[in-house]
Amino acid sequence: MTLFLPLEPSSPVPASPSFLQVPSDHTVQLDKVLKAILKAKRIVVVCGAGISVKAGIPDFRSPEGLFQTLKRDNPKEVLASGKDLFDASVFHSENTTSLFCQMIARLSELSMAAEPTAFHNLLHTLDTRGRLLRVYTQNIDAIEQKSGLSFGVPPFEERRSKPRTPKPAGTDAEPGENIASTSRLPTPPAETPRCIPLHGTLQTVHCQICNHSYALADYHTSLLDGTPPECPECSAMEATRQLVGKRARGIGRLRPSVVLYNEAHKDGEGVGDVVRRDLMGQSKGKGRSGADLLLVVGTSLRVPGTKRMVREFAKAVRSRGKDGGSNRASPMPAVEEEQPVKTVYLNLDFPVPTREWEGVFDAWLQGDAQVFADMLQVEIDRETRAKEIASEKKRRKEEEDAGERGKKRKPASAPQSTGSPKRRKIANLPLTPPRSKPSSAPPTKLFLTIPSLRARKLIPEVYISSTRPPRSPPKLPPTPEKSPPRPTRRSARTKSKSERLLPALHDDNLRALRADEDLLPSLVRELHCGGS
Ligand SMILES: [Zn+2]
Repeated sequence: MTLFLPLEPSSPVPASPSFLQVPSDHTVQLDKVLKAILKAKRIVVVCGAGISVKAGIPDFRSPEGLFQTLKRDNPKEVLASGKDLFDASVFHSENTTSLFCQMIARLSELSMAAEPTAFHNLLHTLDTRGRLLRVYTQNIDAIEQKSGLSFGVPPFEERRSKPRTPKPAGTDAEPGENIASTSRLPTPPAETPRCIPLHGTLQTVHCQICNHSYALADYHTSLLDGTPPECPECSAMEATRQLVGKRARGIGRLRPSVVLYNEAHKDGEGVGDVVRRDLMGQSKGKGRSGADLLLVVGTSLRVPGTKRMVREFAKAVRSRGKDGGSNRASPMPAVEEEQPVKTVYLNLDFPVPTREWEGVFDAWLQGDAQVFADMLQVEIDRETRAKEIASEKKRRKEEEDAGERGKKRKPASAPQSTGSPKRRKIANLPLTPPRSKPSSAPPTKLFLTIPSLRARKLIPEVYISSTRPPRSPPKLPPTPEKSPPRPTRRSARTKSKSERLLPALHDDNLRALRADEDLLPSLVRELHCGGS
């Protein structure tokens, strides 16, 4: 039985498949499925065109798709369906090859402009949470990579163990000899990429003879014209052969590296190897135990290879569920316990023929991938918030506990921290002398100005101020009203003398010196106090 859970609760129950189970508590069951997905640790996602429609990438089978446009633009061509342009037979005639190239060029434009959808971003979120084992995509738009997933087909183990021909030496090899080392698309990282393109990508083109790969973007114009470009590698090789007098071998044409119906995937072994490891588990790393939940999204499951893969994963995650349960010591047999949700199908329509899928999916979430992505994101955000609150609570509790411990210890340590009474007395000595200027605050910083040598001969006083003396003659605040500068005998004499003998010494300077005469003794005392 497959639980029927439309994302839109009011959706009518479809007539087929017959094995659908309609729950009375729709919301509760839907919530359970979402929780199961959030709880899973090694999710395998198999996705198709349905996740990219929102990004503006057309579904080729849909009547509104790109195929209809091409058919309208090329009325002479006998094209029954979009599938015809994705069949290996497109290369049988120049016309269909040209149409195929045009279609790919337009598609690559759309792909390059496309932004990841909510579902693509969800995949990335699951990956950063460490819950995503693998995404197998049937899409050729490579938007998964844009969302932040590592992407590509890893080299096949057996090939990798063979000594690889270094790239520069490739020119010496016979065409077709060097397939393994040149046919990767794109260059995969050392670790198995998170997303495996099942049907190639629009990012590259490769030579039909020597298998060399090139960036599609570099040949876009030629493809848009409907002309498959010549292979540079073959061209170089041909030139060399001509030079040494060897017979011509021909120059290959570059074709888009997307896998067509009725042709083998050129990286099929590499893909198969990853599938095998994700099914069975491997010796180390994240996929050690193999997938524990299967999510099939936005695909009508019509490609035989994908169908087989989905079935195998469904079997694997279910058997793992049983094994995993036996690991935990549970004395009571879980007879009444509901079967945990392990296989989820998410699409607007159920795959046909429906009987092929009986017993494969635990739940069918009927609806759009983007609506689902938003729903799950809400759950993820809720979970994240709950975790944050919990950790904040824990932190506060720890702080409180630490505070409690500190309080208990405080009485013993208190006298030590404040120091001896004697020291405290010294520290509390008033810094401000009793005879400070009435209007100004106590000086915090003192500057000492020693007159120049010539000036000192005449005026031996030292000038101390709470403000930094400027380079130019200092402009002091006007002398307080109540204590106007008293023309003492000495200052009167000095003034007259300086005016006569030292014209460089400004009047203001002299006034400042006089003004500070009264303050000087108290400041000196203050300096002593502060220094103790
Ligand atoms: Zn070539």
